[in-house]
Amino acid sequence: MKTPWDKGSLFGPHRRRERGLKRLGRAAIIVVAAGVIAWLIRDQAGFVVAVYEGKRAVDRHDFAAAREAFQRAWHVRPQSALMYDCAGFLALQEQAKGWKNAARGNYIQARERRLRSNFLINHVKEARRLLDAGRYEQAETELEHALLLSPRNATANLLQGHLLYAQGRLAKAIEQYQKALTLAYGSAEIQSTLARVQEAKSKGSIPYILDRNGAVLAALDVTSRLPTYPSDFLTAQLVGYRSSSHGYAGLEAALEDKLGGNVVTLTIDVGLQRIADAALGWQKGSIVVLNPQTGEILAAVSHPSFRPSLVDKNWGRIMDNQNEPLKNRAMEGLYEPGSIAKIITSAAIMETKTDVTSLYPFKCKGYVMIGNETFWDWKRHNMIPSFSEAFNQSCNVGIARMVHRLGAASLIQFLRSFGFSEDDHIPLDLPVAKSKAPLELESQTALASAAIGLGRGFRITPLHAAMLAAAVANGGVMMSPILVKEVRSVTGAVIRTAAPHPYKIAMKKETAAALTKYMVDFVHSGIGRKARMIRYQVAGKTGTSGSSKHGLNGWFICFAPANKPELAAAILCENGGAGHAVAAPLAQRLLSEALK
Ligand SMILES: [Zn+2]
Repeated sequence: MKTPWDKGSLFGPHRRRERGLKRLGRAAIIVVAAGVIAWLIRDQAGFVVAVYEGKRAVDRHDFAAAREAFQRAWHVRPQSALMYDCAGFLALQEQAKGWKNAARGNYIQARERRLRSNFLINHVKEARRLLDAGRYEQAETELEHALLLSPRNATANLLQGHLLYAQGRLAKAIEQYQKALTLAYGSAEIQSTLARVQEAKSKGSIPYILDRNGAVLAALDVTSRLPTYPSDFLTAQLVGYRSSSHGYAGLEAALEDKLGGNVVTLTIDVGLQRIADAALGWQKGSIVVLNPQTGEILAAVSHPSFRPSLVDKNWGRIMDNQNEPLKNRAMEGLYEPGSIAKIITSAAIMETKTDVTSLYPFKCKGYVMIGNETFWDWKRHNMIPSFSEAFNQSCNVGIARMVHRLGAASLIQFLRSFGFSEDDHIPLDLPVAKSKAPLELESQTALASAAIGLGRGFRITPLHAAMLAAAVANGGVMMSPILVKEVRSVTGAVIRTAAPHPYKIAMKKETAAALTKYMVDFVHSGIGRKARMIRYQVAGKTGTSGSSKHGLNGWFICFAPANKPELAAAILCENGGAGHAVAAPLAQRLLSEALK
């Protein structure tokens, strides 16, 4: 019986030696092959790692590290299609001087060396990322390469359609979308895009600035390649204009680098803007309406206005107009606040719990002597029984008596918390003039004047005035104003979005509640009666500044409904008269239409 163990006995010693030699040879081959493979793998692995590191570095915008990694990979496979592809990608992403030629040149080299695909760089995906980010020039180069590599890729063809649309080439875009549709038959995304673009083409314009509800405020005319402004003079200082001879203004200037191909949605409600415009009527001045909880600017009117599409034609007339129609009074007009500043003074008295009860009742004679100086009231109020009544009647003497108890330091502290510090600057996409308040009050007269919002050193923009009212409405928190709600790229991807955030904690919640009551009474039974509404309680405060010789500026700042504020507003009538007489009735007109 043979067993497996007997197997060896079948072979003689000679054969055994032969087999030994064979084994040795085989082992040697294996060792050499393993060495070669190890060497190859080591190199190959090093290559993959280097390319991978390079791509990662590009993604985090560390271009120096990317270049170093790609160079390492280049040493392993010099002049390979893949390495040219990486070099092109790096140049495109880095955007150094001459990047476009560098990127295209390298991509051409890669294709000439028969690059089929790059295991790390998906050019269709990268093109999409660039389009999503609104980086159209780079997307164009990337997409050209992607389409030459895979001409029948439906996504690449769709993206090419988006790019053409962003460039305003609607007929070409439609052709491209149709081609994409044949490659991805029945794609809902492509079909809806195609419908949207066909509609834009039939209208002959591409919208690029919208109001919060999608109403078009600025669009590019496809034929003339010039902007058109459907909301015309209504939003002229906000949207601005583009003129080849007189430059850019408004958002056209401020967002210039974001406008090509993207869609900007504003917080403005053009319906409310129209109501505010009508409320202001022929009056020179401004109306700003805010959402007090978010700081969103819902309307910002500046009178007089101009027609943005006729800037070139009317330039001479616009320049000759003493009333400066180009000036955005809402954000750049600086005016003495007058009694609207009593909100700040009253907040300070309330929050510091300054004991003012012993000052009342007193008899207002229409003036009071401070040292040797006569401090004038705007009228003789006679008996003033309390703080609330001094506020209600907007009695300057009453406020002056109280602010001397409060002291300059406390008033200054509250002026700062309402946004009047040296380094305060309201952040916005449009230029905002810096409000200022007297922050050094050396004399008692200066203190009394500051308390009632008067003096050379006291100036506020209508926007900031509206923020003052909004801060009371929002429990003491003054929100940063928002004008641009979001910016989307041609693909619909959000490039930028605005989140509400506090600008100042102006006062405590209890103080805001107490002030609200004073402001409600002020409209219900006080000096602000002309803003009274039947259906809602309005909280408000008037202000008057300037001089009867040079013209009075009338203010009214308010919010409504007082118990659940939806809107906060500032109305400024430049050279219009006293606030209670001219601005308060406009508030009623504004609110009764706006809160329908
Ligand atoms: Zn008085």
